[in-house]
Amino acid sequence: MIDKNDRILVTGAGGFIGGHLVASLIDQGYERVRAVDLKPFHEWYQVLPQAENLQRDLRELPACQESSQGVDFVYNLAADMGGMGFIETHKAECMISVLINTHMLMAARDCGVKRFLYTSSACVYAAEKQTDADVVALKESDAYPAMPEDGYGWEKLFSERMCRHFTEDFDLETRIVRYHNVYGPEGTYDGGREKAPAAICRKVIEAELSGRDEIEIWGDGEQTRSFMYIDDCLKGTELIMKSDVTEPLNLGSDQLVTINQLVDIAEAIGGVKLRRQYKLDAPKGVRGRNSDNTLIQEVLGWAPGISLEDGLEKTYHWIYDQMVADRSAKSA
Ligand code: NAD
Repeated sequence: MIDKNDRILVTGAGGFIGGHLVASLIDQGYERVRAVDLKPFHEWYQVLPQAENLQRDLRELPACQESSQGVDFVYNLAADMGGMGFIETHKAECMISVLINTHMLMAARDCGVKRFLYTSSACVYAAEKQTDADVVALKESDAYPAMPEDGYGWEKLFSERMCRHFTEDFDLETRIVRYHNVYGPEGTYDGGREKAPAAICRKVIEAELSGRDEIEIWGDGEQTRSFMYIDDCLKGTELIMKSDVTEPLNLGSDQLVTINQLVDIAEAIGGVKLRRQYKLDAPKGVRGRNSDNTLIQEVLGWAPGISLEDGLEKTYHWIYDQMVADRSAKSA
């Protein structure tokens, strides 16, 4: 239902998922892709010359209106976010993203956008359902009664509901995807916003390159998560945009691992075995989280296809190359 000639807006296009999404749309032959991000172009992970690239602050309504002019479909990915180390210490900043989502919805309504996809998160799920490492996977209905992740999760849940009410009150078609940890190349791996897979890869690579056989792990390493490779994420995101499903859908892997097992996989890729130092007072997030994919499998036939071992290998090698290039640039 999306024509190759339709104008598609991707916000947060300078980020990890947004960059891959723009690249994938261009690759599939979409001819009018507009890519918008707050960051200067040299900080974007991918800048596709075939796209119309704009640097705009989407917290501002006029920037959202300008970006939405002539647009048929919106993938709204822009958000001030990061891994646990960021969202536990920047709750107000995470919540300010409500301005992006509010203004983007208003602009989409006023510009006659045909469909608007909002990228929510597994952080909307109620904390009490995630207290055990041996967690029962989270179904979409587990978001209520609400007690999401403080800051970031509340903003996501609020914006989900705003999408729903823009549909009810203004006939703006919306789709909502709840991502569970996405990872892959061309994303953040240092600086404080990185998520666990990239952070673990970076630490193992640091040990590999320096010969120091030690790694710091946040928490006791027995907390559990699932991690979805970017290619699975892109396929699912596009399927949800094209679907008739108006309720939020989980998009995540259901391969549950402990952080210690994630480290095992990264060590095997790097060919090292490290002494583990557990930092028990570091930000850890919930004790256990997994994605229940029953609904998305039933309504869209989607299931993740890439194992953590395969996806992490690609991610590890990309981060390795960045770190080696960075070192040689510094020593030149
Ligand atoms: P990212 O941080 O790499 O990308 C987000 C981009 O939004 C950044 O490039 C940032 O500069 C941009 N942005 C922030 N404020 C902006 C503003 N005011 N105006 C314009 N652009 C702005 O994150 P990502 O991993 O690519 O995530 C994309 C979306 O998916 C986000 O909404 C995020 O909350 C959601 N999500 C991601 C994950 C994950 O595991 N990566 C999990 C759950 C939800």
